[in-house]
Amino acid sequence: MGIVVQKYGGSSLADADAIKRVARRIVDVKKSGHDVVVAVSAMGDTTDDLYDLANGVSPLPPAREMDMLLTAGERISMALVAMAISDLGYTARSFTGSQAGVITDSVHGKAKIIDITPGRITQAIGEGHIVIVAGFQGVSADTKEITTLGRGGTDTTAVALAAALEADVCEIYTDVDGVFTADPRIVPSARKLGTVSYEEMLELAACGSKILHLRCVEYGRRYGIPIHVRSSFSQLEGTWVKNDPDVAGPEEETMEQPIIAGVAHDVSEAKITVVGVPDKVGEAARIFEALADAQINLDMIVQNISAAATSLTDISFTLPRTDGQTAMTALARIQAEVGYDKLLYDDKIGKVSLIGAGMRSHPGITSKFFGALASAGVNIGMISTSEIRISVIVDETAVGDAVRATHTAFDLDADEVEAVVYGGTGR
Ligand code: ASP
Ligand code: MG
Repeated sequence: MGIVVQKYGGSSLADADAIKRVARRIVDVKKSGHDVVVAVSAMGDTTDDLYDLANGVSPLPPAREMDMLLTAGERISMALVAMAISDLGYTARSFTGSQAGVITDSVHGKAKIIDITPGRITQAIGEGHIVIVAGFQGVSADTKEITTLGRGGTDTTAVALAAALEADVCEIYTDVDGVFTADPRIVPSARKLGTVSYEEMLELAACGSKILHLRCVEYGRRYGIPIHVRSSFSQLEGTWVKNDPDVAGPEEETMEQPIIAGVAHDVSEAKITVVGVPDKVGEAARIFEALADAQINLDMIVQNISAAATSLTDISFTLPRTDGQTAMTALARIQAEVGYDKLLYDDKIGKVSLIGAGMRSHPGITSKFFGALASAGVNIGMISTSEIRISVIVDETAVGDAVRATHTAFDLDADEVEAVVYGGTGR
């Protein structure tokens, strides 16, 4: 018994047949005696198509209207899934994010969930219905406007619902069998992880692994919700994201945790170099203040010592490519004030990250990582580290080789191919 929360992604809901298959899976859980609450994404590439449509109409669509448009994708899925369930002789009630009580802040396009008031959900469950919630959306407490949570946000809807409903588990159904040691689209020999800790999963998600939305993992960790990532196309056990070995999930490999959880990559960033910054107090502060005012999230930052002859230094940093233009404009505005020489912009870069909690207690990980890159002929542009992660910036064209070489160097390759990509365009 108890409540099971499930999430189905767009590739699991690509067409009418897929929706009927998902409906059967949902009904099976209901038949086994559980109450079921399901968060759904938009069908297939609907969200991308809606973006394209908006851009066809206006180069700069107002953020409020963009959210109105995008939330329609999930409304289509929720109603169709509910219909397919009713066709199987069970009743389902679909709810928009707002109806389901998903309360957010008022930032269009990347709203954060601040509360869930699931009154209508619990009432519908009490009446014996299966509940289907449109993912990726909510309503702002302040402005009363409809908001979206950012790309991939349905994962976060699902985990937040699981927390609010005190569900035993949140199952995330996707188009691969779980979390792999690398993206199977790049490393066919990638291995499926049985379990991964929240902190490792947070690093993986932050470093470009698209399997789970970052904020859903933060939510899971905060509320202790075990997240089971698995395929809607197979019956295989997937990957459990959790810390406590005693909660639901497979028996642990308690012997010794693997040192490395995986290799992630990200080709969504760009690099800006501010060339010839005078080496004096306050210059870096001024530069990063301008970027902060422009609402830019930075990733890596590198500053070298200044050349003795000139007393000038270069500062490089990485940021989302989508923010590239905004950042360049913000920096151009302060050129005279700061007195730097020029700006360089490079969006042909990729980030490769090695992640594992075991790094803390195992020396030599960095040298092995860099050695693998060297053997593969990959040049390192920038480096950054956390306690359980090492990331490098390389040429975008070298990302595949870098990931594969690192994966092999750390003995992560599976003997037989385990990874099946069941669907999705990876778009
Ligand atoms: N449909 C939205 C997207 O494509 C939300 C999601 O899939 O989670 O990003
Ligand atoms: Mg998704």
